[in-house]
Amino acid sequence: MTAMIIDGKAHAAALRARVADGVAGFVAAAGRKPGLAVVLVGEDPASAVYVRTKTRMTAEAGMAGFEHRLPADTTSDDLLALVDRLNADDTVDGILVQLPLPAHIDERRVLTRIDPDKDVDGFHPVNVGRLATGLHGFVPCTPLGCLMLLRATLGELSGLEAVVVGRSNIVGKPMAQLLLQQSCTVTVAHSRTRDVAAHVRRADIVVAAVGIPHFIKGDWIKPGASVIDVGINRIAKEDGGAGLVGDVDFAGAAAVAGAITPVPGGVGPMTIACLMRNTLVAACRRVCAAEPE
Ligand code: NDP
Repeated sequence: MTAMIIDGKAHAAALRARVADGVAGFVAAAGRKPGLAVVLVGEDPASAVYVRTKTRMTAEAGMAGFEHRLPADTTSDDLLALVDRLNADDTVDGILVQLPLPAHIDERRVLTRIDPDKDVDGFHPVNVGRLATGLHGFVPCTPLGCLMLLRATLGELSGLEAVVVGRSNIVGKPMAQLLLQQSCTVTVAHSRTRDVAAHVRRADIVVAAVGIPHFIKGDWIKPGASVIDVGINRIAKEDGGAGLVGDVDFAGAAAVAGAITPVPGGVGPMTIACLMRNTLVAACRRVCAAEPE
């Protein structure tokens, strides 16, 4: 193996420690804790785990967490009414509605109802537009975490060839915007791209957000490239248990890359740390305090 392993857990712990320092400063100045409201509709087990982790990390950062668990048969109107209450609640700085929502609820209507200045997930079209035009807003946590890992690994990104594989609203598209803002030359590949391998072979930076285990092969990677693997795929292991793998063939890619994130322990921990950071930023903006770095 030649690649440096990018330790997402360590980077995330350092970011959470910086956020906790910022929270202490906020509490001293504002006389209250930054508050994050997390809304979970239904019983999806993976979502329940994510929400528990987010609530625990919120408390560990010294912030107030407000968990709202609603039954799976909650109506769109009831959920929208809760969002309205949270928008109006001065103790709530950030609102996160855990996705996916049950099929009978119109996800777009719910996400666009969140006050853009409390939209710490960065999914509201106003924040999408702010990111695209270079205005201050909220950037989705996963691509923000990827960018932080790249900046910490490479420093200046200007002029580098970046290939993002995947074009979802949650990961691929905002990742491409962030890399463009860093003056990378950005290519976005997707399911209709004719020869994904040919694009990846040119890349100094590869971000894989596809959702297919080991989709990116080791021999696609340019020697010395930085590889960020966003994928979280549950697979059956030979011993009958379950394991998590990324979208990149880790062993193959690590033999040629300059740096690579592991799965688990790469992008995943950064996502939650960035949620904490976005919540602190939201709180600081709402009381006009100086923003944390
Ligand atoms: P989506 O399913 O929304 O998007 C997947 C993207 O991959 C689509 O744009 C799709 O293209 C593209 N794609 C699918 N097949 C191919 C192919 N054969 N060749 C090229 N591109 C292809 O997934 P997400 O973006 O939400 O998530 C991607 C992965 O990241 C998943 O494994 C998910 O679990 C993980 N994830 C991890 C997070 C973390 O915190 N680490 C957070 C969020 C997601 P098209 O648009 O044409 O269909």
